[in-house]
Amino acid sequence: MIDPRAKVEEGAVLGEGVVVMEGAIVRRGARLGMGVLVGPYAIVDSGAIIGAGTRIWHFAHVREGAVIGEKVVVGKGVYVDHHVEVGEGSKLENFVSVFHGVTIGRKVFVGPHATFTNDLYPRAEGEWETCETVVEDGASIGANATIVCGVRIGSYAMVGAGAVVTKDVPPHVLVLGVPARPRGFVCYCGHPLGRGVLVGDEVLLKCPKCGREVRVPKELYSLVLKEEL
Ligand SMILES: [Zn+2]
Repeated sequence: MIDPRAKVEEGAVLGEGVVVMEGAIVRRGARLGMGVLVGPYAIVDSGAIIGAGTRIWHFAHVREGAVIGEKVVVGKGVYVDHHVEVGEGSKLENFVSVFHGVTIGRKVFVGPHATFTNDLYPRAEGEWETCETVVEDGASIGANATIVCGVRIGSYAMVGAGAVVTKDVPPHVLVLGVPARPRGFVCYCGHPLGRGVLVGDEVLLKCPKCGREVRVPKELYSLVLKEEL
């Protein structure tokens, strides 16, 4: 369903059941999978590829060549820069900006107003020198956090609200504060994990909430919790 007040340019490819709401623009060469929703006044630029079932809400802007997976939620006012990749099942909450050089894995949560930078030495004059940032599958970034470019946020890691991340965050590690520091470990479900049991070179941590087990390297455990096993 295309609202008469929307603009879908010739050469845009729309799958079955795509909804384009009032004031939205879908430019030529954009490809929208089955059931994609483009909310009011959102813009999908040329060459962007949007996976089936993805919802792009009011005023969001997906730039040219961006690749967004299936069943992603692109919140109100979100900006996805050119050629950025966002994996399936991720959620970008309201007003998140994902700039060129940032790659978002699958099932990643990015809280409202969180932001990424993409140049370590920005100036208004001259060219950008993009440095890259990767957010691995299942990681969560709290509201209003800032991710300084050049870091890797590991799978299922968690960044607390308002934190400023300046270093890599290993998988399952919780970081808090400014600058962000490791404070513990979190489960796949996001719940904090308590003390672990040494098994060979790894430490086994059991989630008190969902019962799943998380394994982390012994050295990392000691480094984060500042305790020897
Ligand atoms: Zn759990």
